[in-house]
Amino acid sequence: MEAKYEMHLEFLKENDKPIFDAIVAEKERQMDGIELIPSENLVSQGVLEAMGSVPNNKYSEGYPGKRYYGGNEVIDIIENLAIDRLKKLFGAEHANVQSLSGSPANMAAYFATMEIGDTFMGLKLTEGGHLSHGHPVNFSGKLYHSVQYGLDKETELLDYDAILKQAKEVKPKLILSGYTAYPRNIDFKRFREICDEVGAICMADIAHIAGLCAGGVHENPVPYFDIVTTTTHKTLRGPRGAVIMCKEEFAEKIDKAVFPGLQGGPHAHTIAGKAVAFKEALEPDFKDYAKQIVKNSKAMAEELMAQGLRLVTNGTDNHLMLVDTLSSKDLPGKKAERALELAGIYCNKNTIPFDKRSPWDPSGIRIGTPVLATRGMKESEMKEVANFMVQALDNAGNEAKLKEIKGKVKEFCAGFPFYK
Ligand SMILES: *Cc1c(COP(=O)(O)O)cnc(C)c1O
Repeated sequence: MEAKYEMHLEFLKENDKPIFDAIVAEKERQMDGIELIPSENLVSQGVLEAMGSVPNNKYSEGYPGKRYYGGNEVIDIIENLAIDRLKKLFGAEHANVQSLSGSPANMAAYFATMEIGDTFMGLKLTEGGHLSHGHPVNFSGKLYHSVQYGLDKETELLDYDAILKQAKEVKPKLILSGYTAYPRNIDFKRFREICDEVGAICMADIAHIAGLCAGGVHENPVPYFDIVTTTTHKTLRGPRGAVIMCKEEFAEKIDKAVFPGLQGGPHAHTIAGKAVAFKEALEPDFKDYAKQIVKNSKAMAEELMAQGLRLVTNGTDNHLMLVDTLSSKDLPGKKAERALELAGIYCNKNTIPFDKRSPWDPSGIRIGTPVLATRGMKESEMKEVANFMVQALDNAGNEAKLKEIKGKVKEFCAGFPFYK
C-alpha cells in the first residue's frame, strides 16, 4: 500500500534540525505503533495543510461581519464555511466554531447557562465522565455545585430511572450526558425526557462519539438537545479544537460566553482545519469510516474476551472498550499500559466502574479503534492486534520479549502506511 499523505517540512529540515528531527520521530512513532487511544486520530492532508497556513497570523476577535479588527473579510469566509458545514453535518440550528478545545467549550456552555454556584449533574470521572463534567479538582466542580451521577453496579450501564430520581431530588439547572470512557450507546432521547421532566437544560458533550454521530452509527442528539459541545480531534478526525452547537434560543448567550466571556482571538487556521474536516465528514465515505470503527471495535472486543480478558459491560457498542486488566491478568492499569507501550502498542490506564484503586494506578486500560480504522484496518486485523496485546500483557516485565513484539508490531503496521 502507498502512504496517503505527506508532511511538508523542507524549511525546518534546513533551518531547525532539533524540531525537524522531533517531528519526524513522532511521525515514525505514530506510523510504527498500534495506536489504541480512543481519543486520538490521524488527520488528512487537507487538515494538515490548513493547520500550517497563514490564517494563523490574523487577529479576528468577534464573529463574521462583527470584528474588532480590520482586514477580516477572508477570515469571515473561512469561519462561515466552518459554521455552515458544521450545521449541515449535525443538523444544528446554531454553531460556534471558535472554542479552543473541549474543556473550554464546556466552560463556555456553563457560563452561558448557569450562574456561579448553580447545581448541575454529570457522570463521575471514575465511571466514565470527564474532568470538566464537575470533578472537584476542575473548574467545573469548583465554580458550580456539581452533583455527580453514577452507573449501575451490576450492569456497569447508565441507569436512567436512577438518574431521573436523583434529578428530581437535586433539581439541577443542567444535566450533562456524553462521556469519555463509556463503551455503550447513550439513550439521548431518554436524557431529553429526564431534562424535560425536571426542567433542566439538556446538554451533551459528544467529544468522543462525534464522528459516530455524524456518520450515523450513534444517535445524534444535536437536533433536539439545547446545547451540544464536541472536540474536533477525536472520532471527528479534525484539528485539535472544539465547537458548540445549540438551539437558536441559546445562540447569543453561547457566542457571548465564548467571546468576550472566555477567549480572545480565535485561531483562524484551526477553524480552517475544522472546515476541512467537516467537509470530509459530509462525504459519503465518512459513513463507511464510522461503521468500520464500530465493526473493528466489536471484532476486537470479541477476540479479547475469547482470550480471557474481562471487558467492562462485556463488550462495546462504540469505538472504545475498557479492559479490566487487574481481574483478567493480575495486572493493574499502569503496568498494563507500560507493557503495551514497550511493545509499541499505545493505550491509557483507566479506572473501571467502581474501581477500588486510584485514577493514578487504576485497575484497567481504555482502548479503541478510531486510528486503526483510519489506517484502513478491518475486522481481521483486529484479531491480530488483540493477539499482540495479549502477548504483551502476558509478558509484562519481560523487556526482551516486549521488544521482540514491538518489532513484529512495526512490521504489521508497515502494511498500513498513512503519512510518507
Ligand atoms: C476529550 C474530552 C474533553 C476535553 O477535550 P480537551 O480538548 O482535551 O480539553 C471534554 N469532554 C469529553 C467528554 C472528552 O472526552
